[in-house]
Amino acid sequence: MLRAVFTFKHLALFGISTSVCLACGGADSSVAPPLLGPQIEVRYLSTLTAQQQNAVAAAVDKWTRAVSKNIGDFHLNGPANDCFAGEPQLNETHHNLLLFVSIADIDGAHGQLAFTQICGISSADKLPILSHIRLDQSDLASMEARGILVAIITHELGHALGFNPVTYMPKGLGSGTPSDPYFSGLTARSEFANHGAWYTGVTVPLENASGDGPNDPHWRLNIFGDELMVSSISQGFKSPLSVITLGLFKDLGYEVDFSVADPYEVAPLFGGNRVLPEVSLANDFRTLTPPTVVTPLVSH
Ligand SMILES: [Zn+2]
Repeated sequence: MLRAVFTFKHLALFGISTSVCLACGGADSSVAPPLLGPQIEVRYLSTLTAQQQNAVAAAVDKWTRAVSKNIGDFHLNGPANDCFAGEPQLNETHHNLLLFVSIADIDGAHGQLAFTQICGISSADKLPILSHIRLDQSDLASMEARGILVAIITHELGHALGFNPVTYMPKGLGSGTPSDPYFSGLTARSEFANHGAWYTGVTVPLENASGDGPNDPHWRLNIFGDELMVSSISQGFKSPLSVITLGLFKDLGYEVDFSVADPYEVAPLFGGNRVLPEVSLANDFRTLTPPTVVTPLVSH
């Protein structure tokens, strides 16, 4: 397991680089400025083409504009392959979310396109600080050809940032039965009411097709239709990032810029000129091992 470092009384950080000196200052070496860094730092574990890297960059840019929070600085220390096969050994201090992106075979062509794991969370607010997105090598060309790669990575990054049961269940924000699970955060509920007033069920409805109850981290497809965080996607989907999804992130504790949201109204997929789901993103959140809980470093 990734080992968390809990006591840093003598921590001294020099400047804003990754130069870190542990236990090298006296108790009076008082001010240790927090490491500055992006909301999301991407680290590739595979070779991505320029086009694939652009897809990741587009997803990161959108989420970075939409949600933000100074989650803190964390010492990440763990052996290789700790959370997933191919994970490098870690021994570094890092700010906010470190996101690994890898390409490897998942299940051959079709089936699973990608999945996301949460490897580390902050003890302070339980938000992810170390996540991993894996793209299925056998499906990459197809995803690119169909023009859905950016939407799929943006979807997975939503899981990596917090739209997952590891993050919202401990906060008491997921509930309901397997047939009618829901997310109960007040901001998401309020935004849903503004854009889906026709729905009379308990809000906000999570996917009930898997039987996983509130542990299925997707909006309910037959209520939401085409939205970023439903569990299906099609070539014709726009996969809009809705204010409802941003409301969920507000409920998780992020600061949110709702103006980044795409136009969206809650509307099921019913024939007509609407396209039907083509590929599934169901079961794309994996919890092979519980995430390591890491305490943020105290900067003074
Ligand atoms: Zn998903």
